[in-house]
This record gives sequence, C-alpha cells and structure tokens, in this order.
Amino acid sequence: MTATTYSDVWNLEVFFNGGSDSSEFADHLERTGQLIELFATKVDNWTPLNSLEDRQFLQEVLEDIENAVVKLIQAGAFVGCLLAQNTEDKKAYTHDAKVTSLSAAFQTALGSFDNLLTTIDDEVWQELLANEPLVELSFVLTESRERAKEKLSKEEEALISALEVDGYHSWGQLYDLIVSKIKISINENGEEKQLSVGQASNKFSSPDRDERAVIFQNWEKAWGAQADFLAKTLNHLSGFRLSVYEKRGWEDVLKEPLNINRMEKETLETMWAVISENKLKLVAYLERKAKLLGVEKLSWYDLEAPFGTTASNLSYQEGAKFIEQNFAAFGERMATFARDAFEDQWIEGEDRPGKAPGGFCTFFPESEQSRIFMTYSGTPSNVSTLAHELGHGFHTFAMRGVPLLNRNYAMNVAETASTFAEMIVADAAVKNAKDIGEKLALLDDKVQRTVALLMNIHARYLFETRFYEERKQGPVSVERLNELMLTAQKDAYCDALEEYHPLFWASKLHFFITDVPFYNFPYTFGYLFSLGIYAEALEEGKGYEDKYISLLRDTASMPVEELAQKHLQVDLTQKDFWEKAVHICIDDIDEFLELTKDI
Ligand SMILES: [Zn+2]
Repeated sequence: MTATTYSDVWNLEVFFNGGSDSSEFADHLERTGQLIELFATKVDNWTPLNSLEDRQFLQEVLEDIENAVVKLIQAGAFVGCLLAQNTEDKKAYTHDAKVTSLSAAFQTALGSFDNLLTTIDDEVWQELLANEPLVELSFVLTESRERAKEKLSKEEEALISALEVDGYHSWGQLYDLIVSKIKISINENGEEKQLSVGQASNKFSSPDRDERAVIFQNWEKAWGAQADFLAKTLNHLSGFRLSVYEKRGWEDVLKEPLNINRMEKETLETMWAVISENKLKLVAYLERKAKLLGVEKLSWYDLEAPFGTTASNLSYQEGAKFIEQNFAAFGERMATFARDAFEDQWIEGEDRPGKAPGGFCTFFPESEQSRIFMTYSGTPSNVSTLAHELGHGFHTFAMRGVPLLNRNYAMNVAETASTFAEMIVADAAVKNAKDIGEKLALLDDKVQRTVALLMNIHARYLFETRFYEERKQGPVSVERLNELMLTAQKDAYCDALEEYHPLFWASKLHFFITDVPFYNFPYTFGYLFSLGIYAEALEEGKGYEDKYISLLRDTASMPVEELAQKHLQVDLTQKDFWEKAVHICIDDIDEFLELTKDI
C-alpha cells in the first residue's frame, strides 16, 4: 500500500471558480432566478382541467421544479461553504441574502402549485399518477396535495404567512435577542467575569464539581432574572401556533410534527413505552456515576461531567485511516466512499482561525458531490464528528439517481446514516482503547449521549405536550412553567437526580424555534432507528450493506412504518424493533457497570 497524504482543505473550485468573486457563480444565480420565474409564471397561468389532459402539464412543470431545485440547492451549498470557511467573507453574505430571497420566491410558487393540485378530483388524481414517470413521485406529490388540503384557502394561508413575519417568527427572534443579552458571572482566579450563555454551558463539562455547581447556580439566577420576558415570548409563540392550528381544525398539537416526520402516533407511543420500560438500566448508570464522583445522587449539572482519562489524539491522516478501516469492516462501498471523499478533497478540516464553529455535510446536486465542514484538531470527538458527517455524505451518495423530489428526507431519518457511521467508529474506538481509563472515558461518552436522547429529550417531549395542552386554556405563568418542567424532568429521569433545572423551558432554544414544531422526539427516533439498523448489521455482517443502501434510497419517499416494513421486515408500532435498539444502549451501560464495579 502506498502511503497517501490527504489534504485537510476542501476543493470548492470544481463547482465555481474564484470563491465569492466567481463570475461563474454570478451567472449561476441569475440562471436560478430565471428558472424559478419560469416555474412561477407557468403555475400562475395554470388552471387544472381536472382530466387526464393535465398529465402533460404536470410532467412539464415537475421537470421545471427539478431544474430549479438543483440550481437552488447547488447555490445554497456553495454559499454555505464560503461562509463557513471564512466568516469574514462579506461578498458571501450578499450571495446568501440573494439565495434566501430566491428560496422564498420558489416556496411561494410551490405553495400555489400544491394548492392547485387540490382542485383535481381524487379519481383523476390517482389515474394521473398511475403511470411512468409520475408514478415514481406519487408519494411526495400526494403528500403535498394532502398537506395543502388540510390547510385553509390559498388566500388565508398567504395571510397567515404574511402575519407570521412580524408575529410568530418575531417571537422566535425576540428570544434570540434576549438570550444574547444574558450574561452569567463567574469568579476566575479572584476575578469577576461575565460569560455568554454558550461559554457558560461549556463549563458544565468541567471536571471540577464545585465549578459546575457555582456555574449552575448563577445560570439559574441569570435565566430567572429574564423569566417574565421569556415566558411571555413562549406564551405568544405557542399561542400563535395554536390559533393557526385551531383555524385549520387541527386538534392534536402532534399532528403537524408527526406529519412532517411521516410517522404514526402509535409508533411514537410505542417508542416512548419501550424507553420507559428500560429506564431502570439508565438509572443504574446514573447511580454508579454518582458513586464514582463521590456524591449521593447526581445533579443536573453533573450529567455532562467527564469521566476516565481522555483518549490520545489522532492526526488527520490517522483519523482518516481509522475511519476507512472500520467502515471497511462493515462494507466495501462505505469504505470506498470515505476514501474517495478524502482523496478528492471533499473535506475541510484544517484547524485555523476565521472558520465558523461546528460541523456539517452539504450536498451539491448538480455535481452529485458532498462537502464536509469541521475543524479537526485530533480529539476523539473530532474523529466521531468526521465519521458522523461522512455518514451524511454516504446517505446522499446512496441516493444517487433518485429523483431530487424523492430525496427530501425528514428530520427523524436524516440522522440514520450519520449515527450509524458514528457508531461503527465509536465502537471501534472503545475496542482499541489503550487502557481502562481511556476505555471508560469513551464508554461514558457514549452512555451520556444515550441519557441525553432517552431522558433529556423525553423530558422536553413531556414538558412540551403538557404545556401546549395547558396553553390552550390561556397563558401559563412562570411558576407553572417551572412546575411543569420540574415534573417532566422528574418523570423522565425517574427521580434519579438530586437537583433539577426548572428553568430549562427558558434556557433551551428548541422550545422557541419557529421553523420546526416540536423539535424533540425526531432526535430520539433517529437515534434508535439507526441503532436498530446497526443491531441488524452486526448480526448479518458484511452482506448487510446492499440492504442498508436500498433502505437509505427510500428514506424520503414513504412513511417510516412502510420503510421499516419494506427493508427490515419490522412493524414500528410494535415493541420488538425498539427493544433491539435500546438493547444496544444497554450493552454499553452493562460494560460500564462491569468495568467500574470495583472502583
Ligand atoms: Zn448530523
């Protein structure tokens, strides 16, 4: 084998030459605008004949949509990469604003199109979609049509969207503004310091318990001081959402999030039921962790406390090789995909100033390529982020050749491939740990994540469903919000903690996000769905890869129950699949308990 050295800087030139000054990109934006306008004009002038003669128009306009979407996503991906690689790139911000306005124009036209579909009778509709090429898109088209049917008239929905700008969405923005003003004070070496919310929350993973406790006290105090404003914001934001639901005749607040995630309520309830039945194991872990930290019971601020000794760093080359090798143990195509991604410079990992924080994987549909962004400094968590993002890239890669309209997967399955890839690498890292301290640190990290997804997210889900029910009767006071949150946390953590975080309803951004309602259960679903597939893969070995790829290809063109039935032959409304998935988490806990029993 020849020793290859991978570059840790990505190549964006293959898409558009010259970065944010690219004239190729300026032309691309112009062309995108023209395509959107073409689509919008056609829709504006269309009156469905409500007969099979509509097929011709539908075929044509769907091609227009695909052409516009390909260009629009390509543009958005390029701008996203420019902004991430250099946060000072002023020209990229201008491009970003342009892409946003193009997307808005496209969405408006798409809304009108979906609305017109509702004027076609059901029988005609089914006949229209019965043949190639429309049959392939029948799920997504019918879904759009059904969603439009369940909304108010085109004019009423347009009015709601207009009012949302200064109503609904403004409450979300007000939240961000309030949070940006919050400072949490700490005393560092005798000096009083003011931390931002983000800086302060990093301190919860400090190994020093006293430091965590003090931060937590000040953290609660700071949020408490703003609680009146935050409660008002939350009450109006949820009130707006509930009013819209009421006008549309939607009684269940879970209707919209379940629909967006293409899943049944029964599936959701079964998932939580299996989680609840297995909570005792999680409690056993929390108790052991308390003992190891020398306390009676853990507190909220101990949940992210590190344990064990930090694993050794891996250079970018070592990290890449480690990922490639372990992907190969699962399947050839995943390994080849990773190697090609490294070789063809799909990854921006260089540790240098001026880059945006965080990591992502983005897709350039016109080129059928992805790009991964992160800052790689060699920590074990960097290696797993890299594997995670490569997993996203593999998902898109697996979907090659699928019509773009069938590639728009929902949040609950979006993390399937990424979690899967991360699990492969995380398990390998635990196995390869050089000593017990390192092994414990890596295992603890995995279990902490399980606790977050099965307990913390559960608390958010319980709080949010209960809160929305109460909000239907009128605004909910700060005291009551605290009470609802405290009860939800006690329920979700099975009373296993000493101190809780009643103001979590204020400090957690997710309750204030207006683009997506109920930003909680899809995380847990995605995690366990992926683990369930991982469990099968472990049983079946290498031959599983083909099955896995066909599942990924279908993630955006059917409900999750059908997806699981078709590819895994399991019924998601029944407990078996979920039990298998939760068991993977329990295995980690068992290993942790075994390794620490004599410490
Ligand atoms: Zn992800």
